[in-house]
Amino acid sequence: MESRVRFYYSDGRQEEIDASNLQLSCPCARCQGKEKKELGVPLSVSMVGRYAFKIAFSKGCSQGIYPL
Ligand SMILES: [Zn+2]
Repeated sequence: MESRVRFYYSDGRQEEIDASNLQLSCPCARCQGKEKKELGVPLSVSMVGRYAFKIAFSKGCSQGIYPL
């Protein structure tokens, strides 16, 4: 399943990232070393403070904190 996430930055930049690549780059231990097919799709994105966001994936991970 292809799924893409688009980010809008406050400086006007936009970036579209393949969702599974996003989870592949998740810093948490549960996502490290996973095959792409083992990964889920992002269900929700929430801000953590002003400089990071957290993504809950359908499989494996809901704790990854991504700094902006
Ligand atoms: Zn993770």
